Amino acid sequence: MASIKQVFQSAIRNGGKTSSRMLSSAQAQVEHAAEHKHASGVKFELNEIQREFQDLARRFAEEEIIPKAAHHDRTGEFPWEIVKKAHSLGLMNGHIPSSCGGLDMSIFDGCLIAEELARGCSGIMAALTITVVGQTPVLVAGSEAQKKKYLGRLVDEPLLAAYCVTEPGAGSDVNGVKTRAVKKGDEYIVNGQKMWITNGGVANWYFLLARTDPDPKAPASRAFTGFIVERETPGLTPGRKEINMGQRASDTRGITFEDVRIPKENVLGAEGLGFKIAMETFDKTRPPVAAGAVGLAQRALDEATKYSLERKAFGIPIAGHQAVAFMLADMAVGVESARLAWWRSAWEVDQGRRNTYFASIAKCLAADVANKCATDAVQIFGGNGFNSEYPVEKLMRDAKIYQIYEGTAQIQRMIISRAILDKAKGK
Ligand SMILES: Cc1cc2nc3c(=O)[nH]c(=O)nc-3n(C[C@H](O)[C@H](O)[C@H](O)COP(=O)(O)OP(=O)(O)OC[C@H]3O[C@@H](n4cnc5c(N)ncnc54)[C@H](O)[C@@H]3O)c2cc1C
Repeated sequence: MASIKQVFQSAIRNGGKTSSRMLSSAQAQVEHAAEHKHASGVKFELNEIQREFQDLARRFAEEEIIPKAAHHDRTGEFPWEIVKKAHSLGLMNGHIPSSCGGLDMSIFDGCLIAEELARGCSGIMAALTITVVGQTPVLVAGSEAQKKKYLGRLVDEPLLAAYCVTEPGAGSDVNGVKTRAVKKGDEYIVNGQKMWITNGGVANWYFLLARTDPDPKAPASRAFTGFIVERETPGLTPGRKEINMGQRASDTRGITFEDVRIPKENVLGAEGLGFKIAMETFDKTRPPVAAGAVGLAQRALDEATKYSLERKAFGIPIAGHQAVAFMLADMAVGVESARLAWWRSAWEVDQGRRNTYFASIAKCLAADVANKCATDAVQIFGGNGFNSEYPVEKLMRDAKIYQIYEGTAQIQRMIISRAILDKAKGK
């Protein structure tokens, strides 16, 4: 398989570019649009490079992920071999800036890849892509030196990052985070407990959100600080791997911090900015999570369609029964609309605009669609759907987490409704 880097290089050659800087896909998109004179400014067509990314990710999912998905689901073994292959092909970390050795890929292009990987297995996709959630605070608020050191490392080697915010007593209510960081000289001393951290046991470094203002009445916008923490720091102990309902290839753990010393150089932005950084991260990471949910929903639709043409009942393929065909139609309605929602949310943030509203709509819709499609696929498979020899029961288990992590279904609706009401009130 040609790597993402080779796709870029071939685009540069074919485009006759003299610059050695890699052709950014955004630039390619602009050129493509100019060529085709899209008078309306609206375009639902991928450019050639994007189709190549998508094709590479699709082939990777078919050849490398799908054959091994059941094994990792059954054993919970972390898919390191797949991580290494995906890393060598440039299917990970594409968004890292070229100044740190990355490809400067847009959020949109990253989402295209995420959708295809999740179509193969959303648990393995989580293992390959949730590192981005740990990296994004550094992209949002890191200094050049921090970016070069911590993001550059991930380009050079197949290493992972993690986003360490949730605690046993604080998930949706991030303001309830109790982990404390106390400044002593040139260091911060951290004590506390994190929970449900994806890549918790396999990350090379973590983004950590901790309370630095001891005043319990301090507003969230000033009370917390974001840090980069090296995995090997003494006092940092990941717990056991949690045994979850789905996405079992992904590594989720609690992490204990006991007198963990973090140098002040590892503060992101400045003391007090942590909450803002942690929230801004979601604008960039909810679109790929939504794309992953769409990939799972697409897989459910594909599996159900195939099965409905093969399985016969009452003398005809079950696809010939309107009740089954209409279930497929409803699944397609969900998949296509949820895909458009992530396209919009990714496109908005790539324009440099605040996309919180669109990101929540995409994440909320795609998560619900993934759950509906997976449930309907199980229904179409009948008894076989309930059995682990067939692919759809795993899809149903894997789908559920999309309504929980990166902000629950209820939290997304809070964000969306607040945006509508604020607008109506003229805020
Ligand atoms: C597999 C997995 C991976 C995860 N990965 C990470 C990670 O990498 N990093 C990280 O920091 N976290 C991670 N999380 C944590 C995840 O983001 C939280 O579980 C999620 O935000 C919900 O928080 P909670 O579990 O504390 O539920 P709670 O916040 O206690 O919510 C319980 C229920 O109450 C509802 N609820 C809460 N508040 C309101 C409200 N105001 N209005 C209406 N309903 C409300 C919720 O929607 C939910 O249905 C992960 C979780 C899991 C299960």
